[in-house]
Amino acid sequence: MTDITDFLSLDLDESLLKAIEEKNFKHPTTIQALTIPAALDGRDIMGSAPTGTGKTLAFLIPAIQHLLDFPRRKPGPPRILILAPTRELAMQIADQALQITQYTDLSIATITGGVAYMNHAEVFSKNQDIVIATTGRLLQYIKEENFDCRAVEMLILDEADRMLDMGFAQDVETISAETRWRKQTLLFSATLEGQDVHDFAKRILNDPIEIDAEPSRRERKKIQQFYYRADNLEHKLALLLKLLSQDECQKAVIFVRKRERVHELASKLHEAGIRSCYLEGEMVQAKRNEAIKRLQNNRVNVLIATDVAARGLDIDDITHVFNFDLPRTADIYLHRIGRTARAGKKGTAISLVEAHDYELLKKIERYVHEAIKMRTIDELKPKSKVPSLTGKKKPSTKAKAKLKEKKAEKKKSKVRHRDSKNIGKRRKPSQSPQEQLK
Ligand code: ADP
Ligand code: MG
Repeated sequence: MTDITDFLSLDLDESLLKAIEEKNFKHPTTIQALTIPAALDGRDIMGSAPTGTGKTLAFLIPAIQHLLDFPRRKPGPPRILILAPTRELAMQIADQALQITQYTDLSIATITGGVAYMNHAEVFSKNQDIVIATTGRLLQYIKEENFDCRAVEMLILDEADRMLDMGFAQDVETISAETRWRKQTLLFSATLEGQDVHDFAKRILNDPIEIDAEPSRRERKKIQQFYYRADNLEHKLALLLKLLSQDECQKAVIFVRKRERVHELASKLHEAGIRSCYLEGEMVQAKRNEAIKRLQNNRVNVLIATDVAARGLDIDDITHVFNFDLPRTADIYLHRIGRTARAGKKGTAISLVEAHDYELLKKIERYVHEAIKMRTIDELKPKSKVPSLTGKKKPSTKAKAKLKEKKAEKKKSKVRHRDSKNIGKRRKPSQSPQEQLK
């Protein structure tokens, strides 16, 4: 464990502590404990931790503390710029920022698509401290010289892996160049795996500390994962209806792969007397917000969503995540199931798999390092046989081990490279964060 087990030892402003206390957050999460001190030291950070482990506050707290430590003398353009891959995520970050700054005078604004262009006018006319934006719309304002980047002291990228997936790398780099007077850059991501994120980070960050937070047991392992075998689409639907009707299923998100499936499923649920709302990529912003609100306010208990639409979605009390269709990749699986069991709560993730999904299911199991248990419902038992998978598992586990070795080597050489660099006045941490954990 880290030394930092409560927020008091982080030496934060009273107003921040009060807001944190009001949220009833007792301890910083692992990623928070590891990143906040380094960020307060002025270091660039490349941080990763699984979904739902508090990355938002890991960057909001040091950013806000910085604004409180160095208050501005007169009103001006934004000093902190936070970039998020989707509008929903931008708004959720803004929500958390508003709550945590409620006892300060700091002002917070969002700039995203889906809002009438001129509605942002007040963002530019007033004093702004923190702006949370999606890249497309922000760039539009920058190009038209409506957004002043020169006061930005800190640039924060949330869900960097998603931004890359969604093809925003160039946009982010442009914004990075536009905010080149900044003093600090923080990058957060669910994973830092793959060369892409590292290459991207290298172009944007300056001598970053890399923090890969293994969540503590308290934060981890709260998601029970099961799967049910289905013979076909009809069978999947029957299973889903049955599972949705169980008492413990209080609030559910159902993931599907394609937009068409969203509408199809919504009407099937409707026929079965289950009210649901949905999120898909082509909905206008007002409709998206409304869907999220309806779920948040318990007006409906079921949300059907595509992956694009559900990125970063943070709704409390989601008890069940259903993979009506398995996701294309294992990391999306992790991302999806992270919608439940937010911050210490319990959650259940259920996948409905057909024969052709089996190979992918096994891949997912290897990725999450866990066997996903099969369950059945008596009256809905599958008729088809479990498909046999030819011994693919062994070599790939080995391959993975090798990959890990390679990675470990790489990491080592990276540390050396970093340490050999002249980092000027910045304080050099005497230990790597990983060592501090021990
Ligand atoms: P991530 O970005 O890592 O997916 P979030 O920042 O969205 O996770 O946080 C997930 C949930 O955990 C949010 O509802 C947030 O309010 C809550 N949370 C954040 N920090 C703490 C903490 N220290 N203790 C308890 N809950 C927390
Ligand atoms: Mg997040």
